Amino acid sequence: MRTPPAKGFLFAALFLIGCLPLRAQMQAPVPPPDPRYKADLLVIVAHPDDDTGVSTYLSKAVYDEHRRVAVIFTNRGGSGPDAVSMAQGKALADEREIEARRSLAARGITNVWFLDGRDTPTQDVLHSLETMDHGQLLEEMVRLVRLTRPEVILTWMPAYVAGENHGDHQASSVLAIESFSMAGNPTIFPEQLTAPRWYRGVGMYGEGLQPWQPQKLYFFSDATHPDFLKGHGPAFLASDISPSKHVSYAALNRKAWEAYATQIDFGQSTLDYFVNQPEYLVLGKSLVPAPVTGGVFDGVADKPIAYAPPPGYHPIPRTGTTVQLGGPWAFYRTFYRAYGLTAMEGLVKPLQTALSSGHQLWVPLLLRNNTSSAENITIHADLPVGWSGETADRIYPVPPGGEYPAQLFYTAPSGPGQSSPQTLTWTATVNGKPIGAVHLAVFLEMDGVPQ
Ligand SMILES: [Zn+2]
Repeated sequence: MRTPPAKGFLFAALFLIGCLPLRAQMQAPVPPPDPRYKADLLVIVAHPDDDTGVSTYLSKAVYDEHRRVAVIFTNRGGSGPDAVSMAQGKALADEREIEARRSLAARGITNVWFLDGRDTPTQDVLHSLETMDHGQLLEEMVRLVRLTRPEVILTWMPAYVAGENHGDHQASSVLAIESFSMAGNPTIFPEQLTAPRWYRGVGMYGEGLQPWQPQKLYFFSDATHPDFLKGHGPAFLASDISPSKHVSYAALNRKAWEAYATQIDFGQSTLDYFVNQPEYLVLGKSLVPAPVTGGVFDGVADKPIAYAPPPGYHPIPRTGTTVQLGGPWAFYRTFYRAYGLTAMEGLVKPLQTALSSGHQLWVPLLLRNNTSSAENITIHADLPVGWSGETADRIYPVPPGGEYPAQLFYTAPSGPGQSSPQTLTWTATVNGKPIGAVHLAVFLEMDGVPQ
């Protein structure tokens, strides 16, 4: 039926009115991240005073390059010594947090965070990861990378070296590397990235951060025989003069170190050591084209870069029976590959440890049987003169496709420390046929944390 013209006109008019847009309301822009917390360089270390291990570069970065620097400590150093008073444990940790804040503030660094790790004085990174609550600290570190948005992360070298070689140092490095590779991935700790429903409200959920991919990752080390670090990154000398301050970096460092009175002995020999010892950095990883020994910020893009996933863990096909160093050494072999740290593979030469004369040496060996039948693997130890302990050959039954984490203990000879290492060797055989050998260089010079 045909609609009368008058009624049709009315419907058409109502339809047009309904289609007219209401007056649009402009919304406030999303506020940018708080610029007060933006860092160019994020330093991730374990204890209050670890920053002195990169003192010269920190002075250069702050005073001469005008970088914004932030620092994360994974613990507050409650297990350290105290050169000033009787304070120990939690009391010492309370003091050391303030020492670090004062020392860093002397360089103008005030964005400083302390995580809830436990100061665990051993040289075994896996022991420190176990006591620090790895997952909780990783979550917080990823949050702080997203908050500070650094182009460069600088941390301890993830390796077992002769030196102070604190397991906490290495554990802080593991967390730094994991955070470097995770902060840009929006599926990791997504609650940190959720937009709050009303950010000016109270009790909102959603932390409102953004994913962030740092560009370069550098390591420093407290190795006492650091020559192997040469040429793997830039090096800095404390005796050089700061162009902006017109004094040596050593003088600037000393000013910052004085705050660490509980930890640093300011004897002349200590100062001479820090002045004369080059500060080596190792370029652990760069996601932008950059020369290995160039400046820390060489090649850094001036805009945020896309998320770059690490290679991830992929099992390596294995055959036969094998012997390798186990424990932290075995962990690092897998970790380097999973996180694309090709610069670290084979870097530490020789494989090494350090302990005081007369002290006990722990050697973890990892025996693998990749065959389809049970095998007995025999380990024979060749020890330098004066060593004692488990010297008789030992036979380890290893099931098909299985592994045996052998734990060996020896006692080093007593006497004065030695500057050249002693090499211990373990030879593995199956049915009288050699399958491999492990060598470990032991420097008898260390009087620090237990090996
Ligand atoms: Zn430390």
